[in-house]
Amino acid sequence: MIRKGVIISALGDSYKVALREDDSSGSASKKEYICKPRGVFRAKDITPYCGDNVLFDDIDDNTAVITEVLKRKNEIIRPPLANLDQIVFVISTCEPSPNILLLDKFLAVAEHKGIASVIVFTKTDKCPADEYADIYRGVYPVLCVDNTRTADNEGVDALKAILKDKFSAFTGNSGAGKSSLLNNICPGLNLQTNEISRKLGRGKHTTRRVDIYKLDCGGYIADTPGFSTFETSRYDMIMKDELADCFPDFAPYLGKCRFQDCSHTKEQGCAVIEAVKDGKVSKSRHDSYCKMYEEAKAIKPWEIKPRT
Ligand code: ZN
Repeated sequence: MIRKGVIISALGDSYKVALREDDSSGSASKKEYICKPRGVFRAKDITPYCGDNVLFDDIDDNTAVITEVLKRKNEIIRPPLANLDQIVFVISTCEPSPNILLLDKFLAVAEHKGIASVIVFTKTDKCPADEYADIYRGVYPVLCVDNTRTADNEGVDALKAILKDKFSAFTGNSGAGKSSLLNNICPGLNLQTNEISRKLGRGKHTTRRVDIYKLDCGGYIADTPGFSTFETSRYDMIMKDELADCFPDFAPYLGKCRFQDCSHTKEQGCAVIEAVKDGKVSKSRHDSYCKMYEEAKAIKPWEIKPRT
């Protein structure tokens, strides 16, 4: 019988598929199946990802064959995840202090892929987050979390509400306390983040394993490695002409510059630069934009690789 499910675990050529709650193919006694992809996928260069909505044909109570991967609304390559609702960036306010340019690059990539972003600043018990949080407030949801608090943790409660019924990936700088945060959100999870990171996409010869976890409050989360291995710029080059659209804080000013081909980096009569001067757009964000624009100028169209 053909059923509808979502891939919740991927290990090599084997997938764990959870029956979707909207599957109406009958009263299923079992909720999860171990599936193999249909042989033809390889020939067609289709690789099912965690988060993929699939149709599968159950062979018996335990095993099934994925017959079709349904259209994705978005995807990231490292780690391979499909249909994300949001990426949660976990950033420490100190020890180490944040690399704002790197964060802005990842935010732009998420924007380019049509994935919403949430920023969580950690270690607020050690350094206040305001200096950084102010850059992003009004642009993205910003939460501040003290991971040392286990009870009455406002930041954690607010994050839980944001995660509810969504599929969210977590990433961040190393040392930001991502695993503590995940364990705080979902105490039953007992994530061994380092172990998972180690298994994720470190070189061709390592087994790539990706798991996503169901939250008690509804929704799924995927743990991903830190910034160092999360995606690679090769797959995520943003052309210079598309870059301004990846900064949602620039949106009210685009199309209002004196020159139609304004790069928003140094031109006279640039509405974005005016907004920076007026304090409506953060200078830090514009600085990141200018650096990224310089890098994007060096990209040749043929360097943009399609997904492989
Ligand atoms: Zn401009």
